Amino acid sequence: MDNVVAIDGPGGAGKSTIARRLAEELGYLHLDTGAMYRAVTYAALQKGLDFNDNEALVKLANSIEIDFNQAGEIFLNGKNVSQEIRSPEVNQNVSKTAAVKGVREILVEKQQELAAQHKVVMDGRDITTVVLTEAEHKFYLTASIEERARRRFEEMKAKNKEANYKEIKENIARRDELDSQREHSPLKIADDAVVIDSTDLSIEEVVSKIKAIIAG
Ligand code: C5P
Repeated sequence: MDNVVAIDGPGGAGKSTIARRLAEELGYLHLDTGAMYRAVTYAALQKGLDFNDNEALVKLANSIEIDFNQAGEIFLNGKNVSQEIRSPEVNQNVSKTAAVKGVREILVEKQQELAAQHKVVMDGRDITTVVLTEAEHKFYLTASIEERARRRFEEMKAKNKEANYKEIKENIARRDELDSQREHSPLKIADDAVVIDSTDLSIEEVVSKIKAIIAG
């Protein structure tokens, strides 16, 4: 599968930032699949759904429209929800939405359609292992949990949001556990993915490294 770069990894490893930069430089569309699970979660919160009610979550995922613009911003039923999907409530519940098989099936199909229509850099948890198994370029991006929590903390502070390092670290650790232990499409390293540990690397260094590997 040409013109497709697939990137997986745990939360806060810099996937989205790196995928966005890479997409800009390659002239590809950036698709942040985590944003899609977040959009379903945001819609469920708005409707006051019970996150243990799998059937209701699947029905909801089936009934909503999720789109991206060229800048990679996400739209839920035509409304830009790029900010709203980053709320603490969404952070708290998104792993539950993502654990539902039926929700995953709907979003995976949408992701595969988008990859068939565009040149994409797609990032998530199951892109290299489930969504785009035929992608020519596969990467698994990781970093120590302390560094990942530190980056999220700095990101929030830069946006003048209230941030507590300990809470952020606990939230990331909890999501790591849920994402890697869940029954359906758990986070794991694909056999043919290049693993990059970005703990001691800058964003630019990681982007350059990936570009060099893609260029062969
Ligand atoms: O990447 P981000 O932290 O925004 O992802 C939010 C959540 O969405 C993850 O914790 C994971 O539960 C879920 N997710 C997933 N599969 C993907 C992308 C994200 O299960 N491809």
